Amino acid sequence: MSARVVIVGAGFGGIAAAIELRRHGFHDVTLLDRAPGLGGTWLYNSYPGCACDVPSHLYSFSFAQRRDWSRLCSPQEEILAYLHGVARDHGIEERVVGGVEVVSCAWDEARRSWTVGAADGRSWEADAVIVATGQLHQPATPRLPGAEEFAGHSFHSARWDHDYPLPGKRVAVIGTGASAVQFVPEIADQVSRLFVFQRTGNWFLPRKNRPYPKWWKTLIRWVPGLQAWRRLFIFYYAESLTAMIRHPRSLGLVGRARSWLFMRWQLRDPEVRAKAWPNYTFGCKRILFSSHYLPALQRPGVEVVTEPVARLERDAIVTADGVRREIDCLIYGTGFRTTEFMFPMEISGVAGRSLREVWRDGAHAHLGVTVPGFPSLFLMYGPNTNTSGGSIIFYEEIQAAYIRQALSFARARGAAAVDVRAEVEAASDAEVQSRFRGTAWTQCNSWYRDDTGRIVSNWPGYMRDYEQRLREFDANEFELLPAPEREPVAA
Ligand code: NAP
Repeated sequence: MSARVVIVGAGFGGIAAAIELRRHGFHDVTLLDRAPGLGGTWLYNSYPGCACDVPSHLYSFSFAQRRDWSRLCSPQEEILAYLHGVARDHGIEERVVGGVEVVSCAWDEARRSWTVGAADGRSWEADAVIVATGQLHQPATPRLPGAEEFAGHSFHSARWDHDYPLPGKRVAVIGTGASAVQFVPEIADQVSRLFVFQRTGNWFLPRKNRPYPKWWKTLIRWVPGLQAWRRLFIFYYAESLTAMIRHPRSLGLVGRARSWLFMRWQLRDPEVRAKAWPNYTFGCKRILFSSHYLPALQRPGVEVVTEPVARLERDAIVTADGVRREIDCLIYGTGFRTTEFMFPMEISGVAGRSLREVWRDGAHAHLGVTVPGFPSLFLMYGPNTNTSGGSIIFYEEIQAAYIRQALSFARARGAAAVDVRAEVEAASDAEVQSRFRGTAWTQCNSWYRDDTGRIVSNWPGYMRDYEQRLREFDANEFELLPAPEREPVAA
C-alpha cells in the first residue's frame, strides 16, 4: 500500500515535495494550505515592487528551467505564474486543498499514523506528514503603545491592502529589511510624505533589475547550454556571498569594500548617509540588493527617522524624542516571526510529546528535516536551512529527495515509519552550531536567532555542503517502526 502523505503548505517547498513523491510512486499526496490556493509566500506577498532578490535562473526548480524570464530577478506575479505552471505540468494543482488552516498533527501510536486536524474540524489521516510552512509565513507586527487609538489605516507588507489608495497620503513605514527596500522606492513618489522608520541600517549591493533586452532573450533561448551556464554562474556567485559571510575578516572585507563604495556613491546627502549607514559586520544580516532604495531615501518628501517609535496617537506617530509626525497610513515592513516556524500548530509525537516542548530551548532538527520522536514527520525549510546567499529552492529540492528516500526505505522494509535516532540528531545539531563560530552571522542580532541568541534559521555553510550531506539517505541514522498488527480479515 502506498503511503498516504499530507503536506502542510503549498508553496515552493510543498510543491517540490509533492512532485518528487509522485514521481517515485507515492501517489496519495494531499497538500493543505490556509490560503485559497498554492503559492505560499509568493501568494501572500504582493506589495509594490515585490520580486525575488535571487536571480530567477537559480530561484527556480532545476527540473523546470525557463529561458524566458523577463528580468534577472522576476517579479512576484511571474514567480507565482511559474509555480502554478510547474504544479499544473506535474498534476499537483488538483491535489491542493485551499482554505485549510492546519492546527494540529498528532501521532497515533496504535495506528502508527498521523492525524492532521484543521481549524474547521476536518481531519486527515496520514502515514507521513511534511510540514512545509517554512520560516517566513507569519507576519510580525509589533504592538505599539496607542495602536488602538490610531484612526488611520495600517497593514503589514505581507498583507498589502491594494484597495487603499496611497497617492497623496502621509505614510510611515516601520522597518527597512528586504521587503521595505523593494516597496519604498515604488511608493516614495506617490505619497505626499514618507517617513521611513529605521532601527538598523543595511549593507547594499547594486541591482537595477531592468527587463532583459531582446538580444539577451534571443541568445538565452537559442544558444545551447547558455541557460545552464547562467544558472551555474549565479550558483557560484551566490556561494561567493556565503564565503564572504563565513570569512568576515578576509573575503568579507572585499564584499564590505564593494558595498561601502556603492553606498558612498549613492548616498550623496550626508545626513541621510549618516542615518542609513550600517553599524554591524557585512553579511551578518541579509545583504540587500537595490540600486533604487538609497536614492529614494533622498527624495524630497522622504525622511529617514532613526529615533525609536514611542507610540501611536489618533493621527500621528510619535518618537522617543517627543516629535509627532502626522500620518494617514502606517505600513509595517517588520518581517516575520521566523523562529516560531509552524507554531502555533500543535505537533505531538511519540508518547504525546509536543514539539513545542522539545524545542523549548530552540528549534533543532537533523539536517533541518527530522526530529527524534516524530516518526515520518518531515520539515521542509526547517531549522538551520535558511540561506543568506543562495536559493531556498535549491535546498527544498534536496530536502524533497531526501524525504522521498526515507519513505522509500520504510516502504521497502514494510515499516510504518522512520524515526531519526536521538544521538544522531544531537550530534548533527552540535556540528551545525559549531560551524557558526567566527562567521559574520554571530556578529549582530538578526531574525536568524531566537530569544536565547542561538542561530536557528540559517544553514552555516554552502549550498554545495548541504547537497552533499543530504544526497544519500543514511539508513543507519534512523530506526524503523514496524507496521501495526492488523486484525485478520475474515475469509
Ligand atoms: P526583515 O528582514 O526581518 O526586516 C524587518 C525590518 O523591520 C528590519 O529593518 C527590522 O529592524 C525592523 N523591525 C522589526 N521589528 C521592529 C520594531 N519592533 N520596531 C522597529 N523596527 C522593527 O523582514 P522582511 O524585510 O520582510 O524580510 C524578511 C526576509 O524575507 C528577508 O530577510 C528575506 O529572506 C525574505 N525576503 C526575500 C525577498 C526576496 O526578494 N527574495 C524579498 C523580501 C523578503 P532590525 O534590522 O533592527 O531588526
